[in-house]
Amino acid sequence: MTAPWSLRVRPFTLELRHRFTIATSSRTTTPTLLVELERDGVIGFGEAAMPPYLGESHATAQAFLARIDLARYPDPFLTAAILADVDALAPGNPAAKAAFDIALHDWLGKVMRQPWHRVLGLDPRRAPPTSFTIGIHPPDVVQRIVAEAGARFASFKIKLGGEHDREMIRSIREVSSLPLRVDVNQGWRDRHAALQQIEWLATQGVELVEQPLPKENVDDLAWLCARSPLPIVGDAGVQRLADVPRAVGVYHGINVKLMKCTGLREARTMLELARALGLRSMLGCMTETSCAISAAAQLSPLADWTDLDGALLVANDPFVGATLVDGRIVPSASPGIGAAVRT
Ligand SMILES: [Mg+2]
Repeated sequence: MTAPWSLRVRPFTLELRHRFTIATSSRTTTPTLLVELERDGVIGFGEAAMPPYLGESHATAQAFLARIDLARYPDPFLTAAILADVDALAPGNPAAKAAFDIALHDWLGKVMRQPWHRVLGLDPRRAPPTSFTIGIHPPDVVQRIVAEAGARFASFKIKLGGEHDREMIRSIREVSSLPLRVDVNQGWRDRHAALQQIEWLATQGVELVEQPLPKENVDDLAWLCARSPLPIVGDAGVQRLADVPRAVGVYHGINVKLMKCTGLREARTMLELARALGLRSMLGCMTETSCAISAAAQLSPLADWTDLDGALLVANDPFVGATLVDGRIVPSASPGIGAAVRT
């Protein structure tokens, strides 16, 4: 006779340190749903971080999680079957599904008394350095944020696709010579103009360009991919495992995020499949607490680039876990996902 599961959820609002503006939206908060999965006195933590433009909300995530019938899963180690079953409950809902996936992994890791990077055989010292994200701001604000971030990071990720893209880059170059990654968030429209912009960016110490064109413009993206002097990384255009093979020839690399792909289990498969297909990979995030970031950090050594600064952009992180060490987001040595409630 096994003890019953309990699943508790708590809506929470992340307050961002800086207004976060990208090509398509602007906000100062991010709704997140904090999840606790408990059995036998062990609690697994999970999180669904939901930037509003992606369509999930506290209400949709709570409604989805309420549909999970935990009594059907007496053996929590059967994760392949459990997570496939949960995925099949309803289409969409990737962040809600990720919250459950993360909590289940945390619970299992705590029962095994090992952090997941050890269970998976991954050396966290092999994690690539993270970039630090800078939203679209006036030049003086950008320069202040770059100065505040100081020497803690190996690169910055710059959001472009606004009115003043070259001015953004030039104003950063006045105060920093660090490598830059550019994220256009589908903000450019014309492939010829995009190529010209990328050719200029290649002269400015930019190392990659994320989602330069709308995800639907597959032919234009493939045209750009064949000509771009910089790697093109798909983000909006690559959500889940089935999207990875379709990315070949359209992008040079993919951005894998737990909140897009339903959690750790599918993210790991996507990273491994990308490598097998000759695609490069980034492990990214939304604005998230140290719960989901700590979970993602377990997989960092599988990625070519990481962009796991989400918790650093948040002013009211209720968790501690993975930390910034020498420019890398390094998971804690604690079991499971390595996150704990901030006291
Ligand atoms: Mg992106």
